[in-house]
Amino acid sequence: MRFYMELHRQCRLVLFAQEQKNLSLPTLTIVVPCFNEEEVLVTTNKMLVQILEQLIMGQQISAQSVISYVDDGSQDKTWSIIEQLARESDHVSGIKLSKNVGHQKALLCGLLSSSGEAVISVDADLQDDLDVIPQMIKHFNEGAHVVYGVRADRSADSWFKRFSAEGYYRLLSYMGVDVIFNHADYRLLSRRAIEALSEYREVNLFLRGLVRDLGFQSAIVQYERAERFAGESKYPLLKMLALAWQGVTSFSTAPLRLITIIGGAVSFLSLLMTFWGLFITLFTNQALPGWASTVVPIYFLGGVQLLCVGIIGEYVAKIYIETKARPRFHIDAQVGGHMEKPHA
Ligand code: UDP
Ligand code: MG
Repeated sequence: MRFYMELHRQCRLVLFAQEQKNLSLPTLTIVVPCFNEEEVLVTTNKMLVQILEQLIMGQQISAQSVISYVDDGSQDKTWSIIEQLARESDHVSGIKLSKNVGHQKALLCGLLSSSGEAVISVDADLQDDLDVIPQMIKHFNEGAHVVYGVRADRSADSWFKRFSAEGYYRLLSYMGVDVIFNHADYRLLSRRAIEALSEYREVNLFLRGLVRDLGFQSAIVQYERAERFAGESKYPLLKMLALAWQGVTSFSTAPLRLITIIGGAVSFLSLLMTFWGLFITLFTNQALPGWASTVVPIYFLGGVQLLCVGIIGEYVAKIYIETKARPRFHIDAQVGGHMEKPHA
């Protein structure tokens, strides 16, 4: 009975594939980075294949759409499960990285190796609500090149997580880093957005900042984030802090500018202190012998040193930005005549 049901399902999919050859539906790739995810993969795959088939049947995406798992150097059975899943379904493909390179790099590998016209990235634990995928595709069809999945609220989080996340986003915006509040790595990118992303050559990745830097028409879909349904978080506090620091240092040189400002302020205050010391010595009889000549140089030299470090920092910041060699622009559209593609 199960065999016939499966046969029936496969036949319907083949028929759809034939019908769709005449329609120009976008091909979707769902990229899923996985690190030691043996406990969740089979269930995750079942749900992802289900949603993919629904979208294919609903004629929203083409029948060539796939789910692409990136095994980020797992030590458990993750890769053999992916191999098995790929054998069982034409909709499943996999990439195995040579070692654990971290979520951001694994995700970038999946994005850059994808072939779909639209690419959605999602975590293997399916904490992000798959039900908003049709909305993402709708926005894509309406012209959005980036569709951000944004958590509607953080009431499911602990007080600490909520407080630290909000503080962090605020800090980033003070430092001039452009990120979408409560958006992580659940998003849709168009082929053009991925091509633009491939022009960024940096190795210290903070994808949510880079994607924001792309520009292009974008949209937002809101969703509720669930708990991880099995297994443990692969993002312990230390990795989380490392990512947070990456976000600051990859997109902002404000900490170096801060040193210059503090150095300038201390130098200025020590000058005021010098005048005050002179005033006390010349116009009062309360001067303590040796106080001004000892204390003022300490502050003054401290300030000058900070200022010098800050100035060196400003140049280091410039070198850092230049070595990243980020593309300076992305062309969104062109009209009329023949134009060469300028080097970004
Ligand atoms: N992940 C990865 N490499 C790593 C750590 C995590 O590919 O070094 C993947 C992991 O398998 C999952 C996603 O990144 O698909 C997010 O990890 P997790 O759900 O554990 O993070 P959390 O939701 O707890 O922040
Ligand atoms: Mg998770």
